[in-house]
Amino acid sequence: MKYLPRIDESACAAHGDCVEIAPAVFALNDVAHVVGEGPPELIMEAAEACPSVAIVVIDEDSGEQVYP
Ligand code: SF4
Repeated sequence: MKYLPRIDESACAAHGDCVEIAPAVFALNDVAHVVGEGPPELIMEAAEACPSVAIVVIDEDSGEQVYP
């Protein structure tokens, strides 16, 4: 199972919670960007921690959105 995160740049408030949780997956400049891969649990943890619900998570196998 592989989860792909996507940033909704119009929703991202650039507070950096995702980068703190998963620095190998997210980086921050004006808004957050996806810069790497990580285990599904870590990607979900970061997505659930985002105060702006700006991280959309896609299940790569099914193509379905699993969060939010
Ligand atoms: S936690 Fe959410 S709002 Fe904060 S930088 Fe990451 S994507 Fe943007």
